[in-house]
Amino acid sequence: RAKAEGRGTYRLFEAVMGEQMRDRRRLEHDLRFAIARQELSLVYQPLARTSDREVVGFEALLRWNHRERGSISPATFIPIAEECGLILQIGEWVLREACREAAGWEQPLSVAVNVSAAQLHSQQFVQTTRDILAQTGLPPGRLELEITETALIRDPGRALVMLRQLKELGVRIAMDDFGTGYSSLSNLRAFPFDKIKIDASFIKSVNLNRQAATIVRAVLGLGRGLELPVLAEGVETEEELAFLSAESCQQAQGYLLGRPQSIQMFQHLTRAPG
Ligand code: C2E
Ligand code: MG
Ligand code: MG
Ligand code: MG
Repeated sequence: RAKAEGRGTYRLFEAVMGEQMRDRRRLEHDLRFAIARQELSLVYQPLARTSDREVVGFEALLRWNHRERGSISPATFIPIAEECGLILQIGEWVLREACREAAGWEQPLSVAVNVSAAQLHSQQFVQTTRDILAQTGLPPGRLELEITETALIRDPGRALVMLRQLKELGVRIAMDDFGTGYSSLSNLRAFPFDKIKIDASFIKSVNLNRQAATIVRAVLGLGRGLELPVLAEGVETEEELAFLSAESCQQAQGYLLGRPQSIQMFQHLTRAPG
């Protein structure tokens, strides 16, 4: 009887796994056609100075509106795109779209684009970025590439070469999600970063939790020591912003300052004043 039950549980497990794998393959298949079907789009989230809330730039965030399933989170489809290699094609589309958009703004605001490990390590990435900047006319200094520490560890030597070549183009490099994953303080010194983005998980409880506050202060101290500006991700409350401003964190991003939205919603910021 126990044996029969065990077999039943195993069959259920197999059925669930099989279903999950089929679902994943379907998504992978659909993702291959998502660009051509115009199901991908970008939303933009403001990056603001903490001192006066002035918007200094936007982060471009990818959205997939699946024709049958509706909106699918990047947390679901980016890992699929990374595993099947589609991220190279999708990432190039994102970069071109974001640069083209930003080149049309009357204000010289910066645009931040997320770059996956596979892109950073691909042979063509530097050339692709150079071409896109030339084709769109976006001044390189207005482009900020966001890279996570995880993207560095696969082959740190190669990552360093790539980052140096990108810096030579004149673009800026931000370390995204700092404090999560394979955090190593030495990465900040060994790689030519221009900005540290503290992961949202440290901001969440910064007013309630002394440990979170201690970590945020430590990262801000690190930024000061290395002369790197720090941006806090995931700022949702006035209390969090007040804490960050008091601690001299230069920039913030989060629902309090603006949700990721279609760029049309930010026209008042991207057009010239007056
Ligand atoms: P990320 O680069 O760290 O982007 C910040 C994420 O935090 C975004 O999630 C944003 O919508 C969310 N967020 C912003 N403010 C708040 C807040 O106040 N509270 C909370 N709870 N969340 C906030 P999103 O758009 O779902 O993107 C998730 C991740 O997917 C991104 O994290 C990034 O790693 C990846 N991603 C998005 N677009 C791209 C892309 O074009 N290329 C690549 N390679 N990855 C991308
Ligand atoms: Mg990012
Ligand atoms: Mg982030
Ligand atoms: Mg994140």
